[in-house]
Amino acid sequence: MTDTYMATDLPFAGSPVVPQMCDGNKTIQFQCHKGIACWNACCSNIDISLTPYDILRLKQHLGISSSDFLLQYTLPYEMDQNGIAGVKLRPVENGTACQFMTPEGCGVYQDRPTACRYYPVALLSMRKQDEYTDTQSYALVKEEHCLGHNEPRNITIDEYRKEQGLEEYDELARGWRQLILKKKSSGPSVGKPSKRSLQLFFMVCYDIDTFRSFVTSEGFTGLYDLPADETGKILADDTALMLFGFRFLRQVLFGENSINLKTEAAEKRREQVQKMSGQIEREAREKRAAEQDEMYGGDED
Ligand code: SF4
Ligand code: SF4
Repeated sequence: MTDTYMATDLPFAGSPVVPQMCDGNKTIQFQCHKGIACWNACCSNIDISLTPYDILRLKQHLGISSSDFLLQYTLPYEMDQNGIAGVKLRPVENGTACQFMTPEGCGVYQDRPTACRYYPVALLSMRKQDEYTDTQSYALVKEEHCLGHNEPRNITIDEYRKEQGLEEYDELARGWRQLILKKKSSGPSVGKPSKRSLQLFFMVCYDIDTFRSFVTSEGFTGLYDLPADETGKILADDTALMLFGFRFLRQVLFGENSINLKTEAAEKRREQVQKMSGQIEREAREKRAAEQDEMYGGDED
């Protein structure tokens, strides 16, 4: 039997997703526009998960650091029982509306998150256990308050994704989705991820400015041998840094080595492993000797 794992971007809590999945060729009837009677209804009651690229775009739009953005505009949540962290938009204080909602519409429209762009379509990202790459399919979300479904416009999901600028957003979130799917599909045999690996995942995926400081810290530069031009590129560009972060996590969490270790550090690590296996062998030898002593002692009695 082949299991399928899914990471979804269902944009609103309790959304009744039409259960059948479809691909990008499916035509939907939908249009949202200013002046429609339900204007802003969808932004008045939010449950929106953010991708790392969503955070990057929003913090750039607001001109603040990722740490400040996380503090002011988001809430953390656990994506699964292993504690893999996700981040959602934090609604207004004592309310359910989005902090970016204005009477004119979305206050961060050019940089609105993936889930807002997709609505009323839900993205279902799946990966089969025996396959490395994920596949995307979609589902339609029909909520009573959304009158866009009555508008006389037919459009395929692929065309809708293009119109909403989603190709770029999906492409740049792919590495993150693959990490989540891989972590979920690792299952209980790999065990619960350590607290440190979960913290690392959170920092790299969501707090890009703290990750930038980490990349320049001695803890990182002492261990990893990154060419100077590559370091320059990732330090100067948030998107390049984010993509490097996914690569770094694949190395740290799944042992997919693509970043060279410094010779000295690698040597030290090799010595540590040797020392550890030497110790295990020594302990096993001592245990065997003790067992033999006990056995001979028994004979003498
Ligand atoms: S970010 Fe914009 S589109 Fe998304 S919920 Fe907030 S106001 Fe609405
Ligand atoms: S048509 Fe739907 S998406 Fe557009 S404003 Fe109304 S509720 Fe929101």
